[in-house]
Amino acid sequence: MNLLKCFKTFKQLVLIDFLAVDRKHILLLKLVPRTKVFWFFMDNPQKINGDFKGKDIVSLDQFSKKDIYILFSNTSKMKNLVQKKGGSTLLKGKIMCAIFYEPSSRTFGSFITSMQRLGGGFIPLQGMGNSSVAKGETLEDTMQTFSSYSDVIVIRHPERGTAKIAANATEIPVINAGDGIGEHPTQALLDLYTIQEEFGKLDNLTGVFAGDMLHGRTVKSLLRGLSLFKNNTCYLLSPKELKLSREDFNDFQRRGIKIIEIKNYSDIPKNAHFWYWTRIQKERFENFKDYEKVKNIFILTKRLLDTYGNSKMILMHPLPRVNEIEKEIDSDTRAVYLKRQMKNGMYLRMALLALVLGKI
Ligand code: ASP
Repeated sequence: MNLLKCFKTFKQLVLIDFLAVDRKHILLLKLVPRTKVFWFFMDNPQKINGDFKGKDIVSLDQFSKKDIYILFSNTSKMKNLVQKKGGSTLLKGKIMCAIFYEPSSRTFGSFITSMQRLGGGFIPLQGMGNSSVAKGETLEDTMQTFSSYSDVIVIRHPERGTAKIAANATEIPVINAGDGIGEHPTQALLDLYTIQEEFGKLDNLTGVFAGDMLHGRTVKSLLRGLSLFKNNTCYLLSPKELKLSREDFNDFQRRGIKIIEIKNYSDIPKNAHFWYWTRIQKERFENFKDYEKVKNIFILTKRLLDTYGNSKMILMHPLPRVNEIEKEIDSDTRAVYLKRQMKNGMYLRMALLALVLGKI
């Protein structure tokens, strides 16, 4: 744990003390050993609380509705900027290091171009086979190294929880670009932005998620985001082997979002606002045979979309698509994955970088 982040945590503790006295919860504080409160904050990344500057972005749990809307209004400004001028020099003199231990096309590419479009520089490390990681360097040392050269680090790693560990190893902000089967906050935020753009709201929505709920990190982050808003219902369509873990399922139920697990296309409600199709995450299976068994279960065809969908919905996918959506659907006006959804990722990452670097 570095000093600056330690200090920020203590500031939160002082605030808790203050609030506790203020709200007459002093008894509660007396019952909880101070070290436990400290570790609670170590485990749970700082809330954004309307101020992105210098913060790590590790989980959707850091966001409130207000934070999401601050990000969205800046995302719309970035969209306007790109469409009118292509970019600006807002991040001139700032360097982002993108450290990707796992394959990526869109997340890696859009973070890089976001920096370029705002006049900043970047260190692109994609696949760590050519770095000192191949010699056995620890994650902590790698983070220390690149924080000496850059102002913000974007990290993708195959293990759940690694983004948090990376964030604790450096003083500069760290953005989680996907940690194993954990979370993928920037993907979920761009998904939410796409939904908001289409329907003008993030509450009272019905969504259908299909594919790999067990391993899909984008699903977990998006469900966290949707839980912040009232009256959302999500239907999860997956093979039984790839249902959400019971721990995640119970956690989401507690958050107030209504989750309904379904087995067949015929269980899909007619009134869904969006469908969120996902790929079966081949790389997460220990046994290839288990993957083979489920890989072709939910292939979306035009006929299925027309039978179970409606004319006002949108069809999303975090991409890459393997075979789970037929090519023919790409030109359907409801399909936004290759068009709006992907571009929104760039605008949103531009806004997020500028906010975290304290430039807007
Ligand atoms: N690109 C997304 C991710 O990194 C979705 C996927 O890989 O299926 O999680």
